[in-house]
Amino acid sequence: MSAKVWLVGAGPGDPELLTLKAVRALSEADVVLIDDLVNDAVLEHCPGARIIAVGKRGGCRSTPQAFIHRLMLRYARQGKCVVRLKGGDPCIFGRGGEEAQWLGERGIETELVNGITAGLAGATQCAIPLTLRGVARGVTLVTAHTQDESSLNWQALAQGGTTLVVYMGVAKLCEIREQLLAGAMPAETPVAMIENASLAHQRECRSTLMAMVEDACAFALKSPAILVIGAVAANPSCASDPARQGALFSVAHVGSQHA
Ligand code: SAH
Repeated sequence: MSAKVWLVGAGPGDPELLTLKAVRALSEADVVLIDDLVNDAVLEHCPGARIIAVGKRGGCRSTPQAFIHRLMLRYARQGKCVVRLKGGDPCIFGRGGEEAQWLGERGIETELVNGITAGLAGATQCAIPLTLRGVARGVTLVTAHTQDESSLNWQALAQGGTTLVVYMGVAKLCEIREQLLAGAMPAETPVAMIENASLAHQRECRSTLMAMVEDACAFALKSPAILVIGAVAANPSCASDPARQGALFSVAHVGSQHA
């Protein structure tokens, strides 16, 4: 009996951003365990499968991870084709690595299928180039939600010279600002806050490091949202309006003087 679990990324929400491989895995699935950030629209690719919602959004009633592990194991041992469908990419703040390891230790083969992670999707949907020649030579993906606050070196991030993409940051805006300012990131550093990236109800709020807490409050920013912090977040239409690219580069220049 071939026991196998697919750990599949459903992408950020827009069903058209699903990969062909994810569609194939879904079409072969007997059982699909879905997280609550997965857009139900992608389930049209698995009409015959049993769908089990195992979401665990912060603050809501959650399904314990151990229970999810056992469900995957049980169905896999029954010889069912199991798809564990996660928002974005299964291995970006998605516990894909943990689940693959846990199943592997019990002799269950896993196959990981990439999804487009929310941070990359959100930026691109807002025409923010996360890397830009002469402006940002790299991108750093971080989560603001950690058990141990001290485990992330925000000071180093403030001085790293890469665009920062922050997941799970909505409830931590004050702390993020405080830490990055303490790390000498310039107060005028541009920030984009992108809610429901790639979905029809996507919203974006442009701000600066100094103003982002107040602006997010006025905007009523809600989770799920990502933050893009860095010079590339300066201009809403940098990709389409050459006249405004000048503004982007001048902000980048101000930022680099502090770097
Ligand atoms: N594995 C997922 C991340 C899960 S962590 C991925 O690769 O995208 C959950 C966090 O992801 C949310 O708190 C939010 O910060 C971000 N997120 C997920 N979907 C999002 C969306 N459509 N728009 C904005 N942020 C999103």
